[in-house]
Amino acid sequence: MLYLVATPIGNLGDITVRALDVLRSVDYVASEDTRKTGMLLKHFEIKKPQIAFHEHNEDRAGERITGLLAEGKSVALVSDAGTPGISDPGYTIVQKAIAAEIEVTMLPGPSAVVMAAVLSGLPLHSFTYRGFPPHKPGPRRRFLEVDLASPHTLIFYESPYRLVALLKDALEVYGDRDAAVAHELTKFHESIHRGKLSDLLAAFTQTPPKGEFVVVIAGAAKPEN
Ligand code: SAM
Repeated sequence: MLYLVATPIGNLGDITVRALDVLRSVDYVASEDTRKTGMLLKHFEIKKPQIAFHEHNEDRAGERITGLLAEGKSVALVSDAGTPGISDPGYTIVQKAIAAEIEVTMLPGPSAVVMAAVLSGLPLHSFTYRGFPPHKPGPRRRFLEVDLASPHTLIFYESPYRLVALLKDALEVYGDRDAAVAHELTKFHESIHRGKLSDLLAAFTQTPPKGEFVVVIAGAAKPEN
């Protein structure tokens, strides 16, 4: 059995009871970063052999893991933080397991996209998760333009080094929409800034950002009938 196990995005208290039960019971833990996961396991006094599974060895490690699963072993896949597969390695091993008719399940838990979406206060009947925008200005603008007419709330992950550039390009591409920037969710310095894109751009230009961020932007206004 393959378990995709969500882990905390900052606050270790967010691990679920089921996640701990599964991490204790499986034969192997497949982890994006064995050192970081080692610290998590140690915190919860769990000793388990780990298999490195990250973007640079996803194919090879995926074959090894599906081989173990086919032999009847159980494996829990975790990423550095949050939900495996969400802007993290995960879906390719799910594909391999499905193809090999191996049972797969997920242990739900933290994910920054969901927490930021809910805290933004923006409509969530539907939303579009875009992950990380490209680093360079031209590709980033074209990436944003894809959703110009979309009525759905838009959600992006961004590093502190490119947050201001993303807000600036978003303001130019979408106009001055309502938005929110979620910062250091579940951590001691958790904050959420809500306002127009121009307000957020001004705030983060003044104070250089540090830490982890999610940007949530209102969708295009629906045309009047
Ligand atoms: N799999 C993770 C999830 O389910 O949220 C996301 C992994 S992705 C590689 C890391 C990005 O998620 C960060 O750069 C940031 O944009 C966002 N993120 C993760 N933890 C966060 C937190 N505590 N507060 C704000 N954003 C966070």
